[in-house]
Amino acid sequence: MSVKKRVLITGAAGFLGSHLCDRFIKEGYYVIAMDNLITGDLANIEHLFKLPDFEFSHHDVSKFVHVPGELDYILHFASPASPIDYLKIPIQTLKVGSLGIHNLLGLARVKNARLIIASTSEVYGDPAVNPQPEEYWGNVNPVGPRGVYDEAKRFQEAITMAYHTFHGVETRIVRIFNTYGPRMRLNDGRVLPAFIGQALRGEDLTVFGDGTQTRSFCYVDDLVEGIYRLLLSDYAQPVNIGNPDEITIGQFAEEIIKLTGTNQKVIYKPLPQDDPKQRRPDITKAKAILNWEPKVNRADGLKITYEYFKTLSKEQLDKIDHKDFTNYNK
Ligand code: UDP
Repeated sequence: MSVKKRVLITGAAGFLGSHLCDRFIKEGYYVIAMDNLITGDLANIEHLFKLPDFEFSHHDVSKFVHVPGELDYILHFASPASPIDYLKIPIQTLKVGSLGIHNLLGLARVKNARLIIASTSEVYGDPAVNPQPEEYWGNVNPVGPRGVYDEAKRFQEAITMAYHTFHGVETRIVRIFNTYGPRMRLNDGRVLPAFIGQALRGEDLTVFGDGTQTRSFCYVDDLVEGIYRLLLSDYAQPVNIGNPDEITIGQFAEEIIKLTGTNQKVIYKPLPQDDPKQRRPDITKAKAILNWEPKVNRADGLKITYEYFKTLSKEQLDKIDHKDFTNYNK
């Protein structure tokens, strides 16, 4: 009888974490899902609770992480991931990307497990080159509003690489670009749920700045495929995973208006400080090393995502995030 490989996924109740849980269950792994549920939502993984190969651990990885038994893989996907969230919980954002990864690297070492970290295109800051290759070192403001996230993720890469070179821990680093799909949190401030939520509520769509800033949106299934391939590869340097199809936020608002058929218009709000002007992944490495490229085009991905948001009740749509974050900023 073959023994199932065991994987620990942190941030498992979040948008990406929950899709990763689904994928690893589908691939026949035993999944230990960990989350402190500050920004995650159990509704994203409750369909897995009945499975014998799934367990949930309610834990904050910034504190010592104990997992009984063997572990083959660790996926560190716990972190607030929207600019609004990092403003609300800046200290927790820093801790999960520093103390959290330190604990998990220690765990990987004793368990002899391979660890992959969720890094981000934010390590490139407001990039001076476009598209961004992995060799670009970035243009980050450490003390700006995004600094707590960007620097935590940069530190996370540094300590991961140090454990790899000094302790020989098997590590992988994925730099994730803007990703979308079902289970994104409706009110976390990110542009896609913001626009779709506004359209569904009959509100005008709020474009920040003049809408000429660009992003490149990757559908979640493509991202998960890239992460899965990277984890199983033997490549320890950072790899960009994202969809290079770049679009301005103004054009994106028009696409959402067309998709939803809303009669609302676009209104303009001030551009937040340090908002990157352009972002597009150079995926040459992912293509060459992982034989990976995105398959889902934006029109199809947006349709699936819109269908998901349409299933939410009016109550969920109108709900304002009243979570009390105060205890998490210690
Ligand atoms: N944005 C916007 N309207 C909104 C929310 C966001 O125009 O209601 C813009 C934001 O200023 C940024 C882009 O959309 O330029 C993407 O924002 P998001 O928060 O989704 O992610 P980011 O890529 O900035 O981390």
